[in-house]
Amino acid sequence: MDPYRSYQARFGCRPRSTVALFIVLSWALFANSACHKQRTRSFSHSGPGVTLQLQSVSDSESLLFVPIVLVSFQQSLDSLNKDSFAPRGKTLVVLHGDARSFMQSTNTQTLNIRSYARPGRIDILSTYFMGLESRERSREILATLTHEMVHLYMMEKREEPGFVGFPAWLHEGLARTMAKQPIVPLSPIRKTFCQEATPWKRARTIDYSVGHQIVEWIVQRYSLASLQRQIQKQAFEKPENARVFWQHLCQEFLDAHKTSSTPTS
Ligand SMILES: [Zn+2]
Repeated sequence: MDPYRSYQARFGCRPRSTVALFIVLSWALFANSACHKQRTRSFSHSGPGVTLQLQSVSDSESLLFVPIVLVSFQQSLDSLNKDSFAPRGKTLVVLHGDARSFMQSTNTQTLNIRSYARPGRIDILSTYFMGLESRERSREILATLTHEMVHLYMMEKREEPGFVGFPAWLHEGLARTMAKQPIVPLSPIRKTFCQEATPWKRARTIDYSVGHQIVEWIVQRYSLASLQRQIQKQAFEKPENARVFWQHLCQEFLDAHKTSSTPTS
């Protein structure tokens, strides 16, 4: 069927009025979306321990995400509190509806990141979660918030200037363990992995997988409580002592897993 005839049949109007109608509708849609953007951009909600801010989020996304994020935050906080890994301060959670807003706020250049932690603040990109089935979406948001809140806790522990921080493998490993994220099978590890431990802000892919395995091993061999006490204690120790301690623990893990790992250097 002729597309124009079909349109005329459905809407019963002549070409000139069709153009006018199109212009009016487009303007109305534009004005409506601009209005929504403005409304949601300034939205913020405060709950116990959290302030949630929305940036470039549409009304429908905000309806979907606001309750999930607030409930998940509370669940994360409760479960981390039980093991004394919860951040002390109030957390600002910023939910971004588009990648540009997320990347500008976090100063990141990759689309692989969906969440980002800095002292007292977590940024989340909503688009990643939009494609998930609803139960999985809730589970992933809970895991993401728990993971990032562990980073906030770790940052609170070592704030003094000049300290390079806990090794990246401990940061990411503990965050993945507490968030109950899946364990990645052990891939070949360099013999020098423990000596060349990178600071958290320069975490490599291997720090996530190996760190997760090391932390799971520490929890089994010692306990989660003793790991927590050690992190707590190091807030008052010299950075060099802390560095040596984690290096030894990391090496103990590698030695215990010599048969399952293949040193490449
Ligand atoms: Zn992380």
